[in-house]
Amino acid sequence: MLDHERIEIDGVFSLDGQDFDVTNNVWLVGDAEEVVVVDAPHDAGPIVEAVGDRIVVAIVCTHGHNDHVNAAVDLADAVDAPIWLHPEDRMLWDAVHPDREPDGDLEHGLVMDVAGGSLVVRHAPGHSPGSCVLVDGMGGGGQVFTGDTLFEGGAGATGRSFSSRPQILQSIRHRLLDLPDDTVVHTGHGPSTTIGAERPGIEQAIADELGAQDTAPGTTDRDG
Ligand SMILES: [Zn+2]
Repeated sequence: MLDHERIEIDGVFSLDGQDFDVTNNVWLVGDAEEVVVVDAPHDAGPIVEAVGDRIVVAIVCTHGHNDHVNAAVDLADAVDAPIWLHPEDRMLWDAVHPDREPDGDLEHGLVMDVAGGSLVVRHAPGHSPGSCVLVDGMGGGGQVFTGDTLFEGGAGATGRSFSSRPQILQSIRHRLLDLPDDTVVHTGHGPSTTIGAERPGIEQAIADELGAQDTAPGTTDRDG
């Protein structure tokens, strides 16, 4: 399993004309030589400081909400690293950074090599159309970076624009619940949890809200 380190940064999440005070997690995943940075909220300063003299292989935005991307350009310029985002969240990105495109398109199944290990991208729409999770280790003892798709206590919010509750539940079912129970879940906000701790609540929500429906989360994606 890759080393990971968390930085918390306070700021404001804005959507649909409303503002919310939030504390975001940033994850540095790698080793003493190189890292992937997962999300770039609010202020690049503390992230640059935590990176130190390490190489940043990639800045991966789990989704395009402003509180996950608003420091991405400053960070990319400071550490000379490419920004990756799933193209289905470009409308959210463009609202924050109209003059700068992401450098790479995340897609389901993409593998990011870092520090002798790898992070596998899984498209997990629902919180937003382009939400992705990053899996490190599928055979037990692994970890997954879930952005705002899965938190301690259940699925991410789906009450605002571009969100879908049935879709996020299907994404969690197909793209997260197949991971072993001991997989540690590192989230976009708040404490970490495990797949095993969240499984009963998610399975109950799926049974209550989706019934017998079973639709794969992405129609254009390769499976796996
Ligand atoms: Zn979000």
